Amino acid sequence: MSAQEASFMGGVAVPPSKSLTDKLAIERCPAPDMVYIPLSQHIGAPAKPVVKPGDKVTIGQVIGEAGGFVSTNVHASVSGTVIKIESRYMVHGMLAQCIVIKNDGQDTLCEDIKPRSEEEITPELIRQVLRDKGIAGMGGAMFPTAVKYAPPKEGARPIDTIVLNGIECEPFITADHRTLLECSDEIIQGLKYFLMASGASQGIIGIEDNKPDAIALMEKKVASEPNIRVQVCAEKYPQGSEKHLIYATTGRTVPDRGLPADVGVIVDNVGTAVAACRAIKNNIPLYERVVTVSGDGVKKPGNYILRLGTLFTDAVKAAGGLEGDPGKIVAGGMMMGFAVNSLDYPIIKGSTGVLVFNSKSPFAQYVEPSPCVHCGRCVDVCPMKLEPTEIVQAVKRQNWEAAEKFYCHACIECGSCAFVCPAYIPLVQYIRMGKHFIKGNSSGGHNPFYKLNK
Ligand code: SF4
Ligand code: SF4
Repeated sequence: MSAQEASFMGGVAVPPSKSLTDKLAIERCPAPDMVYIPLSQHIGAPAKPVVKPGDKVTIGQVIGEAGGFVSTNVHASVSGTVIKIESRYMVHGMLAQCIVIKNDGQDTLCEDIKPRSEEEITPELIRQVLRDKGIAGMGGAMFPTAVKYAPPKEGARPIDTIVLNGIECEPFITADHRTLLECSDEIIQGLKYFLMASGASQGIIGIEDNKPDAIALMEKKVASEPNIRVQVCAEKYPQGSEKHLIYATTGRTVPDRGLPADVGVIVDNVGTAVAACRAIKNNIPLYERVVTVSGDGVKKPGNYILRLGTLFTDAVKAAGGLEGDPGKIVAGGMMMGFAVNSLDYPIIKGSTGVLVFNSKSPFAQYVEPSPCVHCGRCVDVCPMKLEPTEIVQAVKRQNWEAAEKFYCHACIECGSCAFVCPAYIPLVQYIRMGKHFIKGNSSGGHNPFYKLNK
């Protein structure tokens, strides 16, 4: 496919706003004095704590063991002393148990962290390491990687393709772009391990055409790899959505309620490939990640390596501190992230960005929603071919049957509909709320938006 062909129907052109950080090299930040490490920073069952207050821990030591098949281990990100285990709200409004560790400043590594010889590496070992070392999707989805690479059930379509997601179509976020430029060898090695674990015959690295430097570098690096290629994709939001990336790179359509595996594909983020490479080669668990800290509300926007459990407030300190009064804080990207009310949340495995906009920023202004004018723009741009306005009407009426009839479950929460809505209706929040209620989880967390009768 050419760059123009490698795309999908619908979607929107969002201002990329990446120039604040895309030319800046990744910087390593000193670890904070205290980290707050959630036991639930992956899809599935929370990990079970295996340490208690007073215990001494080293970097990379297991502090939470996988709580089920769809789960993964959690590791200490600093060396020091466990102070307490407490419940804290996460950015999506749910409570999670967190292990609070006081950093001793010694950065003592767990003795397990040491290189492994290539001869030892087998598909079984890769699957075991992915689970033991806590690897989970780092593009935001946080699905435990080992589960994707579990041997397929009898009769299931075999996996023949691994797609690495280097699209990063969210405005402001450049962590993957910098990772492509600075960790290209580890990305390719991680992809080779994924190919070995799955038995797939081809690897594809999808990159949006607004990153010509990353495309040129990766094409050069894979030139001598007969089963790996780079697929340039047209710049369009949400090109990085799993289903749309699969279509753009392979021409295959994942069915409704289906998984990439149903069409013979596994998708992993490029950052996940780096984490997997480090885990398999050097037995290093996932205890830190690259995070874009950006927006006009921080003094020194950039991409920073932050320990998991670092509070946003410490991430902002790493970025030079606040610039003016914060008017809006977003965990993740502008389109799919969560606006939060404080900097008191921890960085987790899926944290791609922390965005802060000062109170005068156009991005921080609240516009009161007005009634729907039935313009149909939300329908035109929906990449899932849904009718967002119909779903929202059903949710408002608490008619869950109708919401399901309009495929509420199929919404990927990309925010394209809300982005173009001239009435500023918070369509995605209503749809998220509908999904929560349909699943029977009527609590909806502490987000006031989840109060249906408000
Ligand atoms: S309805 Fe869902 S999938 Fe469609 S544009 Fe809105 S958020 Fe995206
Ligand atoms: S874009 Fe907004 S105003 Fe237009 S139909 Fe959709 S919900 Fe209504």
